[in-house]
Amino acid sequence: MILLLKRWGKHSLLLFMIIFFIFVLLVTSIQGNAGRDDTPVVHKEWILPSIKHVQGNTVTEVVKNGDTAGLVLARLGLPTSEVGNIIQVAAPVYNLKNIHIGHKFQKNISNDYIKVTYQIDAKERLVLTTESGQPWQAEILSRPLFIRTDMVEGVIQGSLFYDAGKAGLEDALTIQLVDIFAWDIDFVRDLRKGDTFKVLYEEAFDDEGRRVDYTILSAEFVNRGHVYTAIRYKDKKGNFEYYDQEGRNLRKTYLKSPVRYSRISSRFSASRKHPVLGYTRAHRGVDYAAKSGTPIRSIGDGKVVYKGWKGGYGRFIEIRHTNGIHSTAYAHMRRYAKGIRKGSYVKQGQIIGYVGMTGLATGPHLHFEFRSRGRAVNPLRVKHKAAKPVPKTEITAFRLKAKEMMHIMTVQSQLNAWG
Ligand SMILES: [Zn+2]
Repeated sequence: MILLLKRWGKHSLLLFMIIFFIFVLLVTSIQGNAGRDDTPVVHKEWILPSIKHVQGNTVTEVVKNGDTAGLVLARLGLPTSEVGNIIQVAAPVYNLKNIHIGHKFQKNISNDYIKVTYQIDAKERLVLTTESGQPWQAEILSRPLFIRTDMVEGVIQGSLFYDAGKAGLEDALTIQLVDIFAWDIDFVRDLRKGDTFKVLYEEAFDDEGRRVDYTILSAEFVNRGHVYTAIRYKDKKGNFEYYDQEGRNLRKTYLKSPVRYSRISSRFSASRKHPVLGYTRAHRGVDYAAKSGTPIRSIGDGKVVYKGWKGGYGRFIEIRHTNGIHSTAYAHMRRYAKGIRKGSYVKQGQIIGYVGMTGLATGPHLHFEFRSRGRAVNPLRVKHKAAKPVPKTEITAFRLKAKEMMHIMTVQSQLNAWG
C-alpha cells in the first residue's frame, strides 16, 4: 500500500511539475499581455485587411446594360424554373428589378447547397440559399468590413495639396482636413512654409479589398506656430463632430445679427423699389434700423478685405471669413471702429464700426449682406447650426478618447521618425 502510494507519488510529482510548468507559462503570457500598453499603435502589417478569396465552385456574372435579374441568373446557369422562384423569394427583402450595371451576381454550389448572392452596394449583399432541395431563403447580409488605421505627417513647403500628397495623404482626405479646420485656418492665405500636419485616419475595406469608406479620426495642424487639434467624437446620440482637446466644437457659428436693432426695415429680395432712387432693383441684404452710433459687430472671425466709401453704400466694410467661402458686408456706417483697416483680422463680436446713414439711406440703419462664394444670400436664411461643445455628461469619456488619439499620433510620429 505504502509502496503504491510512493509510486503514485512519483507520478503525481511529475504530473504536478508539468502542470506547474504550463501554469507558469500561462501566467507569464497573460501578464505579458496585460502589462503591454494596449493602445492600438498603428502598424501597417498588423492591420492590412485580410482578403478572402472565394474558392471552390463559384461563378460570377456582372450586370450589363439591358440586363434583368432573370437574364443574369440564367447566365449563372440556374434553370429557368428556379429563376422566377428566386426573384419571388427575394422580393420581401430586396426587389431584384433594382439591379445596377457593374454589380455582381455570384453562384456558389457545394454538395448540399446552392448560394446566390447579389452585391447591392459596397456594404450590403442579398444572399439566397437553398439547402438539400429545400425552398429558397433570402436575406440581406452586411458585408464584413476591415478597418485599417494609418497616419500621415508632413511639412508645408509649397501648397497643402502638393505637400499632403507627397506625405501620402490622398486628396479626398486632404479635403476632409481642410473642412475640419476651415473655421480656424484659411488654407489659401494663412498657410506658411514650415507649417506641419499630422492626420490619423481610418479606412474601411470590404472583403474583396475595395475601400468603401475613409474618415479622419484626429488631426493636428501647426499654422504659423499655432497648434490646432481636431478629435472626432461620436456623442451618445450618435452624432459625429470634430472638437479640440478641450471639447470645443471646431465648427463655429456666426452671430445671429451684427447689431442690436429696433426692427428690420427692409428684407432680402430679388427686386424692390429703391426708396431713394425710385426705380426697382434687388435688395441683396437686410436693413437693420438702429439708432445712429449703435456698434456694429463682425458676425464671425475673418479679415477685412474692403474698407472705404463705396457709392450708395457709403462707408462700407467687407469681411472675408476664415473658411474663405463666406463674407459679410456692412454699409452706411457713420464711422469705422478704431484700428480697423484693410487687411486687419477681426474676431467674432468685435466692433468694426457704428450705425449711420452715409451713402443712399433714408434713415440710420445697417445694410448687411451675407455672401457665400461671392453670391449674396438672404442673411436671415443662413443656417446657424449650433456648434455645441461635447455634452457635459460626456466630457470625461471625451477627454479619454482625446488622450488616446493624441497618444497614438505621438507614438506613430516616433515610429515614423525611426523609419
Ligand atoms: Zn439695404
